[in-house]
Amino acid sequence: MTSIKELYGTPKVGGDTLSACSRCKMELAHVIVSMIDGRPSKVQCKTCKGQHNFKRGAGMPVRAATRSSGTKKPVQRSVVRVAELWEQKMGEKRTAPMIPYSIKATFKLGDVIQHPNFGVGIVEDVRKGGKISVLFRETEKTLVHGMGT
Ligand SMILES: [Zn+2]
Repeated sequence: MTSIKELYGTPKVGGDTLSACSRCKMELAHVIVSMIDGRPSKVQCKTCKGQHNFKRGAGMPVRAATRSSGTKKPVQRSVVRVAELWEQKMGEKRTAPMIPYSIKATFKLGDVIQHPNFGVGIVEDVRKGGKISVLFRETEKTLVHGMGT
């Protein structure tokens, strides 16, 4: 007596509809709990009995794909970006004198530092409390300075 068109064609509260279920991770038959503007708003999953907002399943595989590819690339990209930035900034600082790093010395923005562990770096930021942010070829470090008198 109940046709497919009646089941899924005209949604009504208490009727059936297809919705993506975030718990079951697939598109399943749901009971419509409430409606807004003629479209299902809240639905109850017939499989896990969980109530949640109505949503179509189209977005689910896409989200899974971005999550799996998003684990490696951002790390590689940020390393490349630091090195590129460092090379660009060092190009601008070719004639600047290299100052050996010491916590007793006081550095200012744009100073070129020679650090025994990290190599050559450029002062990117001078902060309160005797701290400087220094861009080295492979990493950015926070160092202390200005500890001498
Ligand atoms: Zn479910």
